[in-house]
Order: sequence, then structure tokens, then C-alpha cells
Amino acid sequence: MTKVIGFHYTLKNDDGEVLDSSVGGDPTLYLTGNGQILPALGDAIETLAVGDKKSVSLSAKDGYGEVNPALKQNVKLAQFPVGTEVKPGLQSQTNQPGSPTFRVINVLGEEVFIDGNHPLAGQAVHYDIEITESREATAEELDHGHAHGPGGHHH
Ligand code: ZN
Repeated sequence: MTKVIGFHYTLKNDDGEVLDSSVGGDPTLYLTGNGQILPALGDAIETLAVGDKKSVSLSAKDGYGEVNPALKQNVKLAQFPVGTEVKPGLQSQTNQPGSPTFRVINVLGEEVFIDGNHPLAGQAVHYDIEITESREATAEELDHGHAHGPGGHHH
């Protein structure tokens, strides 16, 4: 049965540093079985009931993946869309259609060193989870392939 699950999370790295949190905002809602959250996180969450709290630790492999050296590349400044201010930290795509998003690590003259790995690749991550909602998905949600928040349609 496909369900809609709502949860609050606090994401920490291996040093216990908080990287992201939904606490104080809206909980994250997702439709089970649609690849909308990390599969290993879903496996842990989907055993819980509303009000349950759990700390879930994921290895890099179960989290954002191992670092793929092939995604670290040098490209030419000219490959960026005209007018882009290319500097370290920029999240961008080259002007090749369908190219993945990457981060600019460094710029040396016409050479740009980019990294297409997720910023959390290669690290264990830890989620503190609290379940706020768990219900059967509506026909409309199943049809759309995503969860609708309170008040229904938001898109
Ligand atoms: Zn919808």
C-alpha cells in the first residue's frame, strides 16, 4: 500500500554538525515507493508510527553515495553559459543540454575545476527523525506521483 508519510528531520554529519533541519518549518511529506527520499532512510522511517522519534545513521553508500573521481573534472571557462560569474562554490551546469549539476571548486585562468559529486558524498550522515503523519495516499496523490500537503494541491 502506498502511503503518505510526514516527518521532521535534523541532518548531521559525522562530527555532529547540523547541516539541515525541517524543525520549526513544515515537515517533509513524501509518497512511499516513489524514490523521493533516500531508500535506506525510507526503510527506517516506514517502520515507525506517528509520534515516533528515531536516529538513523547511514553510511556513505546508503546516503549520498561514494565519491566518484570521474565526476571531478577540469573544464574550460568558455563552456559556461555567457554571463555566468564562475567562482568557487557556484552550482552550475555547462551549456551542454542535460549536463548534471556540479559545484565549481576552483578557477585558474581559463581552467575551471568542477566536482559533480553530491556535497555529502563519501560521508556518513545521521538523521534525527520524528514522524508527524502517516496515512494512505489519496487517488489524486497516486495519480500525481507525489504527496499533497494540508489543503491539497500546491502546484
Ligand atoms: Zn499533485
